[in-house]
Amino acid sequence: MQEFDVIVIGGGPAGYVAAIRSAQLGMKTAIVDEYIGKDNQPALGGTCLNAGCIPSKALLDSSEHYDRVLHKFAGHGIRAKEVDLDVPAMISRKDKIVSTLTRGVAGLMKKNKVTWLQGHGRLELGMKVAVKPHKGKAEVYQAKHIILATGSTPRMLPNIQVDQERIVDSTGALEFQEVPKKLGVIGAGVIGLELGSVWSRLGAEVIVLEAMDDFLAMTDSQIAKEALKEFKRQGLDIHLGTRVKHAEATKEGVALEYEDGEGSHKLTVDKLIVAVGRKPHTEGLNATEIDLLIDESGYIHVDEFCATNIPGIYAIGDVVRGPMLAHKGSEEGVMVAERIAGMKSRVNHDTIPWVIYTWPEIAWVGQTEDSVRQAGRECKSGTFPMRACGRALAMDETTGMVKVIADAHTDEILGVHIFGAAASELIAETVVAMEYQASSEDLACIVHAHPTMSEAVHEAALGVHGRSLHI
Ligand code: FAD
Ligand code: AMP
Repeated sequence: MQEFDVIVIGGGPAGYVAAIRSAQLGMKTAIVDEYIGKDNQPALGGTCLNAGCIPSKALLDSSEHYDRVLHKFAGHGIRAKEVDLDVPAMISRKDKIVSTLTRGVAGLMKKNKVTWLQGHGRLELGMKVAVKPHKGKAEVYQAKHIILATGSTPRMLPNIQVDQERIVDSTGALEFQEVPKKLGVIGAGVIGLELGSVWSRLGAEVIVLEAMDDFLAMTDSQIAKEALKEFKRQGLDIHLGTRVKHAEATKEGVALEYEDGEGSHKLTVDKLIVAVGRKPHTEGLNATEIDLLIDESGYIHVDEFCATNIPGIYAIGDVVRGPMLAHKGSEEGVMVAERIAGMKSRVNHDTIPWVIYTWPEIAWVGQTEDSVRQAGRECKSGTFPMRACGRALAMDETTGMVKVIADAHTDEILGVHIFGAAASELIAETVVAMEYQASSEDLACIVHAHPTMSEAVHEAALGVHGRSLHI
């Protein structure tokens, strides 16, 4: 029986990063992954590279270009005549990016001498992993350490059957070959808003049905309010407090039934995206049979260092508690590999940045003003609108704001929330600040280049003590 120091099950951003770091630290490492890409070939990279972060951002970028040509260029004095939209070309550009990256991950495995075991991984007693290839018999491998990184899958709704034709999940929504005339989206979460934005910009009439009364409940309420106004202005027809009860594909489209405060309603759309969240994936892992503890929500139970209840077995990424974000999983992967190698690594879950890649983007780190106050802590906040930022004006991107929240007594930054162009990049500076427990005064003392969007962060930090200069 072949033996490895580390066997990682799952080749997404959590698993493949854990494998690279384990190999870098001199451990004999294997990665088990069963994913089959669009070209029918095994592909590493998991949901993130194949059907998540990367393909959605490729389509978001393409659709942003289209939207700009149609609606923004004229304001810059550029008039484009006869703008053509070639959806299949857009989709195949996205596919090329995905295959470049997944091949790149395979290359990284080779470079780091990580053995890629293609097929389904199943845990067996005595630190063994059985790998069943897509064709042929299963083989059993011995491990000194096992890292579980089996990710997540789309959550489904009872009474709604995804056929990936008319009713699709997030994976199917990345594959439309033409723009649906009328598109329904269930769920106004991160994925629903991103995919709804793509097809809305390309010309679909998009109706978003969200069960909760609050829009983007996890973001700062001031930012969420501005964002809702802006997305509605852009044409996303967002209905809050609306629970979808039933949906069925018909010859003409999809027939939907939903309930809101006013009663029951019927609606017909051409396509429907079900985007009601994701659930941890432990199917076929044999977890309960080997007494691996799974919590009541289906996540593999881990401690702060991602150790499970079984010594030598760790779990990271979407399959464990915390935000389902690629970078969170990758950092847990590095931490676990380093701890196996005897280092004292940790991940600070309080400073994990979130980004929603709508336009403008929403990004945040740390706590919201409401959650700080609910915890009984006094805080001060500074806000700065993008319309007062010179660079935002030059770019014609004046929507949104930056908000910095700091402890009222110590001035430590407790949260930063950005709604605006380049929010996904701007947030990085504030993550560094929070990681080093900086005060709003520290951020306010740093020189920011002019003219840049980062001046809005600077001004919001100055605003915590009423010192903003340009508003
Ligand atoms: P996954 O990426 O799900 O990988 C798990 C892998 O394990 C898969 O390849 C699976 O086939 C394999 N596997 C599972 N069980 C077994 C088994 N028993 N044997 C063998 N192989 C197995 N996150 C961000 O941070 N930024 C974004 O912009 C972003 N955008 C997203 C957009 C969409 C549309 C979606 C769906 C998700 C997005 N996410 C984003 C979330 C992100 O994709 C996940 O957080 C991330 O992929 C989780 O990584 P992971 O390694 O834990 O699991
Ligand atoms: P996220 O977890 O960010 O992907 O968001 C998923 C969203 O789907 C959440 O905001 C949920 O409230 C919403 N949701 C879940 N079930 C339903 C439903 N039956 N009808 C409408 N929205 C739903």
